[in-house]
Parts: sequence; C-alpha cells; structure tokens
Amino acid sequence: MTKNLHFIFGDQLSHSLLNLRHADKKNDVILMCEVAEEAEYAAHHKKKIAFIFAAMRHFAKELSDQGFRVDYVKLDEAENSGSFDGELKKAIEKYQPQKISLTEPSEYRVWKKVLHWQKIHKITFEIFPDTRFLCSQTEFRNWAKNKKQLRLEFFYREMRKKHKILLDAANKPLGGKWNYDIENRKTPKAGMKSPTRISHKKDAITLQILDLVEEKFQKNFGDLLPFHFAINRDQALVEARHFIDELLVNFGDYQDAMVAGEPYLYHSLISCYINVGLLEPLEICKMAEAAYHAGKAPLNAVEGFIRQILGWREYVRGIYWLKMPQYLESNFLNAKRALPEFYWHGKTQMFCLSEVVKQTKEHAYSHHIQRLMVTGNFALIAGINPKEVHEWYLAVYADAFEWVEAPNTLGMALHADGGIMASKPYAASGKYISRMSNFCKSCRFDPEITVGEKACPFNALYWNFLQENEDKLKNNQRLTFVYANLRKMEKTKLAEILAQAQKNLAQIAANKL
Ligand SMILES: Cc1cc2nc3c(=O)[nH]c(=O)nc-3n(C[C@H](O)[C@H](O)[C@H](O)COP(=O)(O)OP(=O)(O)OC[C@H]3O[C@@H](n4cnc5c(N)ncnc54)[C@H](O)[C@@H]3O)c2cc1C
Ligand code: SF4
Repeated sequence: MTKNLHFIFGDQLSHSLLNLRHADKKNDVILMCEVAEEAEYAAHHKKKIAFIFAAMRHFAKELSDQGFRVDYVKLDEAENSGSFDGELKKAIEKYQPQKISLTEPSEYRVWKKVLHWQKIHKITFEIFPDTRFLCSQTEFRNWAKNKKQLRLEFFYREMRKKHKILLDAANKPLGGKWNYDIENRKTPKAGMKSPTRISHKKDAITLQILDLVEEKFQKNFGDLLPFHFAINRDQALVEARHFIDELLVNFGDYQDAMVAGEPYLYHSLISCYINVGLLEPLEICKMAEAAYHAGKAPLNAVEGFIRQILGWREYVRGIYWLKMPQYLESNFLNAKRALPEFYWHGKTQMFCLSEVVKQTKEHAYSHHIQRLMVTGNFALIAGINPKEVHEWYLAVYADAFEWVEAPNTLGMALHADGGIMASKPYAASGKYISRMSNFCKSCRFDPEITVGEKACPFNALYWNFLQENEDKLKNNQRLTFVYANLRKMEKTKLAEILAQAQKNLAQIAANKL
C-alpha cells in the first residue's frame, strides 16, 4: 500500500526538502519524471537539458540507494505521457496514494499546475515551503509592504542580520560597512587568464543522457560537448570548494572584468547547482564567511560574493513572487524591436556581442556583467521587445529558471518593470565595455567614435535610447546629469548621432551589423 506520493521536480534535487524528510521509505513512493513539456517550454540550450536530466537521474539513484521507492520516468520511455499532468495522473492510478506531498515549485508556471491538480484530483495535497531559500515568500511580502521602493541594499542588510553573516559581536557589519562594492570594479589586467576549471568524469548515466540529448534535441541552441558539469552533490561540492579555496580571493576585484576567450575568470559557476538544489545557498555563504575568518580571502571579495547569494538571489525571487503573473508582461519603455538574429548565432561585426554569444553557445554560461552590460545593455539601448529577450535568456543559460531569470532580464537589464528592481536603467555606451574588457581591441569599431563607418554602435544607440525614452526617464534623479548632457549637445551633432542610430537599427533589422 502506498501512503504518500512525493512529487519531486527537476530543480528540487536536495535531500533537505521538507517533504523528503517526511517520506516513509517503506510505504511512500517518490515520483520524478523527465517530460517533453518541460524540455520544450523554452528553446533550452543542449547543455542545460543534459545537466538537469543527468542531475535528476543521479539524485533518483541516490534516493533508491538510500532505500526509497522511486518511480523515475525517463524521457524516452514508450509510455511517457510528455507532461507533469499525465505522469501525476498515471502515478495516482497506479499507486492509489492517500496523499500527494510536494515542496512548493519555484516557478509560477508549475505553481499554476499544482493549483489545477488540487482542483481535479480528489485527493489531499500536502505542500511544504521551500526552506532552501533564505527568505520565505511571506517574509518578503512583509518586508515589501508599505515601501515606496524595494531596494536590494536594505533587504540585504536585513538578511545579513537574520542569518548572522559577517557581523561582529555587536551585530554590526564586519569592517564597519555593509557593502564593499566600491573596491570591486577593477579593470582586467593585460593578458589576464582564468585559472583552470574542473571537468568532472562522466559515468554511464551521464553518457546515456548525452546520447539522449544528442538524439532528441539536435536542433536546440548550443554545443553539447565538451560537457564538464557536476551532476551530483559531491561533485558540486568539489566545485564550490575549489572556488572558495582558489578563486574567491580575486572574486571581488575582477567581478566586473570581461576578457575575450576567458568566460569564467574568478566567478564561482555554481548558480546552476544552487538552482537545482545540489548546493544550498546558506552553506555556500558560510563557506565564504569561514574563508574570510581563516584569512583566505579579503572582505571585499567575501562580502561581494555573499551579497550576490544572500542578497540578490533572494531579492529577485521575492520580486518574482510579489509581482507575478503581471511581471512577465512588463514593458515600461514600450520596446518593440525584434531580437537580432545574432543573439542565436553570434555572427555580428560587434566583437563584444559575438564573443558573449560564442561563450554562451559553448558553455551555456556567461558571467553577470556580460549578461547585464553586453547582451542586456545592447537589447536595452536598441529597444528590443522584452518578451523576446526574456525568452532568449531563459533558453540559453544552464542556470536559467524563470523565477531568477525574469527579474534579472526584465527588471535589471531592460528596465521593463519601470524601476522596481533598479533605480535607473543600466544603459551604457561602448566606453564602458572598452574600460571593463579587452573586447574593443579586437573589434572593427572604435568605442571612442560615435558617428561614421568606424563608430561603435553602442554609442549612437545609447544617446538614441535616452532621446527615445525622454518622457519616461527625464525625471529619474539618477539620470539628471545625462539628460543635462543630452540637452547641452549641439543640435546638428545630436541629429548626426540620431541618424547614425537609425542606420544601425536598420542594419540590425537587416542582419547586416
Ligand atoms: C539578464 C540577466 C539574466 C540572468 N539570468 C539568470 C538566470 O537565469 N539564473 C541565474 O541563476 N542567474 C541569472 N542571472 C544572474 C547572474 O548573472 C548569474 O547568477 C551568474 O552569472 C551565475 O554565474 P556564477 O555562478 O559564476 O556567479 P557568481 O558571479 O560567482 O555569483 C555567485 C552567485 O550569486 C548568485 N547571483 C549573482 N548575481 C545574481 C543575480 N543578479 N540574481 C540572482 N542570483 C545572483 C548566483 O547564485 C551565483 O552563483 C542573470 C543576470 C542577468 C543580468
Ligand atoms: S567597439 Fe563597440 S561594438 Fe566593438 S567591442 Fe567595443 S563596445 Fe563592442
């Protein structure tokens, strides 16, 4: 007899899940399934699909080895119904459980399914909160209540206090400041190289998945091989340890640096592991804090890294659940242009964009500043439709799940939410990219030039963006200075710049830039 059926989703691969902790090895069944619907709701990168399925199969095996009864439905099984709805229905008919037990899904899309199941299946549902997050949805709502602005910095301080991270005996921030970002803006050194990263051995399960993805998702974006990902908790911990011991020391200094041919630099590469549950955010923050106390990494690096996880990651999740489902419709700047085709193939004369798309295609990874200030910034200043940009980001990165991707794309990168996430748009000209990377040295355009054959397209598009959106942005206090500059600009010069921008926009639309 089956007492409870535990439904575990693909991003819930944690032994700490509350419903798993309540599971009875003898009488309960754990249901996990690979379904076409999940593999196809976005045009996922091949590596992303392979990583998630491989991690799911390894997690299911761990549970079986621990004595749980696991019903694991593989994608290529003949009876696979192709959807969560279908697999749940089949499992209910097969096991006749007394109860369905699950941990709240991370995405709104799946949450809607859960609500639907509760209506159509005459069975009790027991839904546990996802305690892997460090701020519950209710807690975030309470924090957000009656606030005019939901600024990360204040949320982050609350989280530091709540979790007692990097505090002194008087509960004050270590070193006297909450935020050391000012020290984290170093430009890349000439010839800077990433330390070698880990490549994990592939066992029979992973090799099987790679064959499956090669066969079924041949047309998807991205390169499947080489495949270096960790696919279970032990391997993910090796990655985390390597980062803390070897790379964290430089994380802060070079957090914003971009170097051609060096996709990783000193970034941790752990977002995909945290997002599917192989690593837990609090344990990573504690590892980083311990590295500081052991003298292995300076405060600017450790605080900066912890802020990303304890601050930004929890904050974007809070915003997502606070603002869904309307959030996905956000388009404050009424941006309507189509996503340039080069986002998918990388063939563009703009070196920065071709480099970031190339890295994305090869690794299903690009670090934060590249996502924000190259692909994101370009989409912002070129006025690309936020929905299309969102679909791209959701597809191409191995760590992309809607709850974290959508606020970063729509809010942080595109300002489509009208400033809920960011107090001003992250719009920048080619000079920013030139300062923070070595990309411009390999480019046929010149970041110092705004008009003419050699002009960097980011420059004219930047001024055009300000001009096009003046009505909506001119009263933003953080843009007072740039709008003053725009107004001071000589009329004929501005007209030339705007004409250059129109020329670039036409070239983008015709795939000629
Ligand atoms: C347009 C855009 C889209 C993004 N889409 C995603 C996404 O789909 N999934 C995703 O996990 N992150 C996303 N991010 C945030 C960030 O870029 C990635 O988390 C980070 O690049 C992952 O690489 P890493 O593990 O090496 O991170 P590191 O630079 O080493 O940072 C450490 C950790 O902090 C967390 N983190 C850092 N920045 C953010 C952030 N802004 N929001 C949430 N968590 C953060 C991640 O868990 C990350 O692993 C996006 C950012 C932008 C600008
Ligand atoms: S010159 Fe402009 S287009 Fe070329 S790499 Fe630099 S920022 Fe990118």
